[in-house]
Amino acid sequence: MKAIRVHKFGDPDVMKLVDALDPRPGENQVTVRIRSAGVNPVEAYMRAGIYAQKPDLPYTPGTDGAGEVISIGPGVTEFDIGDRVFTIGSVSGTYAEIALCRVDQLLPLPDNITYPQGASLGIPYRTAYRALFQKAFAVAGETVLIHGGSGGVGTAAIQLARAAGCRVFATAGTSKGLELVHSLGADQVFNHNQPGYLDNVRNLTEGRGANIVIEMLANVNLANDLTILSPGGRVVIIGSRGQIKIDPRRIMANEIVVTGMLLFHTTSKEANSINTAIITGLSNGTLIPVIGKEYSLHKAPHAHQAVMSPGAYGKIVLLP
Ligand code: NAP
Repeated sequence: MKAIRVHKFGDPDVMKLVDALDPRPGENQVTVRIRSAGVNPVEAYMRAGIYAQKPDLPYTPGTDGAGEVISIGPGVTEFDIGDRVFTIGSVSGTYAEIALCRVDQLLPLPDNITYPQGASLGIPYRTAYRALFQKAFAVAGETVLIHGGSGGVGTAAIQLARAAGCRVFATAGTSKGLELVHSLGADQVFNHNQPGYLDNVRNLTEGRGANIVIEMLANVNLANDLTILSPGGRVVIIGSRGQIKIDPRRIMANEIVVTGMLLFHTTSKEANSINTAIITGLSNGTLIPVIGKEYSLHKAPHAHQAVMSPGAYGKIVLLP
C-alpha cells in the first residue's frame, strides 16, 4: 500500500509517500481501506516536533479517516468485512491507503454521510461536542459565541449548538468564511480581523453578554472574551498558540468560569455519549460536515500548509 511516512520532525516536506507493507489485524483489530483521511492542526504540530507528545519515528500521521473494513482479526464481532466506518484513532495512522485500527477506534458511518465527511468527524466533532456540553454545559436558549467558526471544529460547534437550541454567534476571518458560518445557521456573524468586532455582542444580547465562548485562539482572544461574557458565563479554551495578559478582576466580578479541554482526556463514559450524539445527529441530518479542500495523499505537505494558513472553510481531507 501507499502511505505517508515521517522519518524526522520538520517542515511539511518531511512527509513522504512510500510503499509500505499492508498492515495485518491482530486480536480485536481490523484494517480499513481509507477512502478519506482528516487533516487536523495537531498533526502539523506533531510533524513539526512542537507538540507535547512526540510519536516514535518513523510514523504515519493521522487518526481520522473513513472507509470500509477489509480484514478482521481474531475476536472481532462488532464489524464485518465491507462495513462502512469512520475512525476516531488508529494504530498505524490514517494518512495511508490502509489503516490498522482497534475495534474501539471505529464507529459505523451512516449511509447518508460520504467518506470525506466521515473523515471530518473524529477530532473536530468530538472536540466541539465535549467543549459545548461536557465543559460549558450549554443548554437551549443560551447564547454561544463560536470564536473561530469557519474551520473543522468551529463548523461542527455551530451545527451542534444549533441542534441543541442555542443562539449561535460565530466569527470567521474572510468573506467566504463569514458566508459559510452564516449558511450553517449562525444567528450573528463577526469578522475576527476587524477592529472592535465584538463591540455589538452586548447590544445583541439585551445587555447581558454571551453565556458561552468556545475559543479557538485563546492567546489572541481570551482578554476580550472576558469582556463580553454574561454573569456566570463560561469560556472553553480549545486552541491557543501562545501567551496572553488578562484581567482576573473580570473573572471575579462576573463569576466567569474559564476552562480548557483536551480531547485525549475524554473518559470512556464521556466518549460513549459523544459518539452516540454524533451518530444520532448525522443520521437525523442536523450534523452535515463541510468539506473545504481535498488533496491526493501525496499532497499531504500541501494539506498541512493549508491547515495552518488563515482562510479556513470547513474541513481539509486527503483522498488516498
Ligand atoms: P482549522 O480548521 O484550521 O480552523 C482554525 C479556526 O481558527 C478558523 O475558524 C480560523 O478562522 C480561526 N481563527 C483564526 N484566527 C482567529 C482569531 N483571531 N480569532 C478566532 N478564531 C480565529 O482548525 P480546527 O481543526 O478547527 O482547530 C481549531 C483549533 O483548536 C486549533 O488550534 C487546534 O489545534 C485546536 N484543537 C484543539 C483540540 C483539543 O483537544 N483541545 C482539538 C481539536 C482542535 P479563519 O481562518 O476564517 O480566520
